[in-house]
Amino acid sequence: MPGQPFFCRYEGMKEQNQQVERTPLGEQCFPFACHPGVACFTRCCRGVDLDLYPFDIIELKKGLGIGSEQIMRNHTRLSRGANPYFPTVKLKLVECGQEFVCPFLGEQGCSVYHHRMGACRTYPLERAVDRRIERGRAADCYFLTKHSYCLGHYEDQQVNVRQWLRSQRLAEHNMMNELWTEVDTILRTNPFKGEGSGGPTQQLVFMACYNIDGFRNFVLEHGVLESLSIAGRQRRCYQRDDKELLKFALEWVKHLLGGPSFLGRR
Ligand code: SF4
Ligand code: SF4
Repeated sequence: MPGQPFFCRYEGMKEQNQQVERTPLGEQCFPFACHPGVACFTRCCRGVDLDLYPFDIIELKKGLGIGSEQIMRNHTRLSRGANPYFPTVKLKLVECGQEFVCPFLGEQGCSVYHHRMGACRTYPLERAVDRRIERGRAADCYFLTKHSYCLGHYEDQQVNVRQWLRSQRLAEHNMMNELWTEVDTILRTNPFKGEGSGGPTQQLVFMACYNIDGFRNFVLEHGVLESLSIAGRQRRCYQRDDKELLKFALEWVKHLLGGPSFLGRR
């Protein structure tokens, strides 16, 4: 509905049955630090309920050195989330004694630290994107999220949102997640119509978003890039660069579903 506020919130790390406080943040500093010396170190990697976004899979490919199909098969599960027309991809936890933990949790902490998911980097913040049409352009806002078990909130270090985003190298994740949000917005309007869930179009869209290796094979086999008059240099870039190919994939999905896209306008 035009003029209606549309907040797309990237949930941070969630855990069932835990008390969570959320405080809206502006420019002010807040106390927080996370390091191996905190008594709760890796506590948040246990029993976690974590959504994975398309760029998380690209980063995990680098961190794990395996293909996107294997990541999806071994480390994710599908769930019915906020969008009734498209599945939510969740991290699949592994059993460890009496609990379930993140499969990437090693003895020394996170084994994919440099390529960990956006939600892991973002905590203790939670990002919301205000896409109200009257604002003219999307605007980010942040909340401070405080889980009762997290002792990082009692450390001496003071940071603000800007410093936290920079220290966690979140600009790239946020930019890629913004592209995903544009697709997700279309997916919430039931663009598959009569095909219903699990139909061929939805499967194609799912592959484009979450299985970049499969999508690369698909565009090569079907001459997708040639049919859209993508220049040779760009085509070669897509062959080796997962991030660039994902940007194209998300644009192509919008084009396929009849959403606003620059593809096909050349
Ligand atoms: S990816 Fe790393 S930081 Fe994130 S939940 Fe797993 S072990 Fe923890
Ligand atoms: S301080 Fe918070 S974020 Fe860091 S390990 Fe402990 S629970 Fe996790």
